[in-house]
Amino acid sequence: MPTTNAYTYTRVLMGSPIFLKLFVDNPPLVEEVYARIGELEDQLTVNRAHSEVMDINHAAGKHPVSVSPALFQLIKRATEVSLLAGSCFNLTIGPLVKRWKIGFQGHTVPPQEAIDALLPLTDPHQLVLDASNHSVFLPHAGMEIDLGAIAKGYIADVIKNLLYQRGVYHAIINLGGNVQTLGRPQNGPNQQWAVGLQKPFGDNGELIGIIHVVNKSVVTSGIYERYFVADDKLYHHILHPRTGYPLDNELFSVTIISDASIDGDIYTTLLYGMGVEKGREYLQAYPHIEAIFVTRDNKVIFSSDKQFTFTLLDNSYQLAG
Ligand code: ADP
Ligand code: MG
Repeated sequence: MPTTNAYTYTRVLMGSPIFLKLFVDNPPLVEEVYARIGELEDQLTVNRAHSEVMDINHAAGKHPVSVSPALFQLIKRATEVSLLAGSCFNLTIGPLVKRWKIGFQGHTVPPQEAIDALLPLTDPHQLVLDASNHSVFLPHAGMEIDLGAIAKGYIADVIKNLLYQRGVYHAIINLGGNVQTLGRPQNGPNQQWAVGLQKPFGDNGELIGIIHVVNKSVVTSGIYERYFVADDKLYHHILHPRTGYPLDNELFSVTIISDASIDGDIYTTLLYGMGVEKGREYLQAYPHIEAIFVTRDNKVIFSSDKQFTFTLLDNSYQLAG
């Protein structure tokens, strides 16, 4: 059994601590990883005045903007998912996200008139993509792309590839709850990575259980991640594209186990909108993508469990089929 030293790092980027663990002592590589994440944040963020995505948003109602091939591909993928029948994923949800400001200073419950006025500006069918020049056009002033539901997954995969290119095949990176693992851990008796499934609204570090994986991505989206409470009602950060309000169903969280973290990020949002029953049915066509649903009545439900094992730690939750 190989036993090596582990080298761990944490830096705050994209508003979250980004944790990295390697089994080689390679400070320049660590710098390269964090610098790459910083570059991608600069490209994708909508929380600053300028980024490649903000260039598209600033040109809404005016003209198309040609973007880098990688960003074009990312927007194309996010658009395809947004256009699926009944999809709750919507990359043009930006105007509503900006209005609610959930997870940011100044969050408010907007008046119904404000939501009604913004909903027409969040129609993903209106987005115009042109592959010939990698251009993206938002045809109406006020439309905004928001890649918040897909960016971390995409970045996690870019970093996985970067590590491969540098000859690193054993590592874990956690981008604020978006975990990508390479190979197996190389220290101690653990032949699998242990990824905690957080207890909804629990204290930091309180877990429902542990998800064990090898060479997989583990992404969780939960209503307890970013939210505010007003008049005893909880408003969380995943919005229903057709009502404009936070998605309201039986779920506390959805976790996706997959190879690509971008799939994890997409499917957490998509399946959050579907709920347990429809979500499990939907995943039957995608055997390489597995979900763990945590429901408000304390059940932990797997769509299937071929790519992970689960250890339940909190007996107030039940494993349910
Ligand atoms: P996080 O990992 O940061 O919790 P998620 O992957 O759960 O993020 O995505 C939530 C973010 O996606 C929101 O903060 C917002 O920027 C954006 N968003 C909110 N609702 C939707 C939606 N229905 N479709 C796509 N993106 C959304
Ligand atoms: Mg997501």
